[in-house]
Amino acid sequence: AELAAGSFFVEWARDDQPGAYRLEKEAVRMMASLLGCPDAVGFITNGGTESNVSALRLARNVAGRPEPEVIMPESAHYSFRVGAELLGLRLREVTLGQDYLPDLNRVEDLVNDNTIALVCSAPDGAMGLMDPVQEFAELAHRRDLFLHVDGAFGGFIYPFMRELGIDVPPFDFNLPGVSSFMTDGHKLGLMPIATGFLLIRDESMLDAI
Ligand SMILES: *Cc1c(COP(=O)(O)O)cnc(C)c1O
Repeated sequence: AELAAGSFFVEWARDDQPGAYRLEKEAVRMMASLLGCPDAVGFITNGGTESNVSALRLARNVAGRPEPEVIMPESAHYSFRVGAELLGLRLREVTLGQDYLPDLNRVEDLVNDNTIALVCSAPDGAMGLMDPVQEFAELAHRRDLFLHVDGAFGGFIYPFMRELGIDVPPFDFNLPGVSSFMTDGHKLGLMPIATGFLLIRDESMLDAI
């Protein structure tokens, strides 16, 4: 399925701007390879806010529940609050411990039949701390929930830290529970503003956009 199949702009881009269209596909493939899932699909956005709002919308439409709720640590970026408001989602925010990280038991306590997604950050924008993404991914996998990882900064830092031999906990599509991942080219990717990436593991989910 092409992204947003049938959309006028996708067809227009593919048929009338084939060079730009191919460049986008190539850029997405490169980012997806860097982040542990060369087959992931996705698109370039105007930045992290659009990526996060689009991920919430995808999770909402995939789940199709009447009273959707999303759980995230209170350290997550404010774009999730904007997105939740715009998309009619109830946001359940998990307070942080003394280490400024969320306790996964508290996350799981908030899971209920209305939960459509979990969100975590790698790292969060204020403290620069990586949430326990692995634990989020295990919970998402076990409870069959969509997990979106905000890697606005991390997507362009952690893979290269690893190349330098620094020990980096798993944070990306190498964790089977990660459904979508975003990162910002216009931050540490040193790309022009506005360049963000939203990557989605399962192409069939795009039918819900
Ligand atoms: C910068 C940032 C965003 C939002 O990105 P914009 O490109 O400014 O819209 C989202 N999450 C985190 C963690 C960020 O640092």
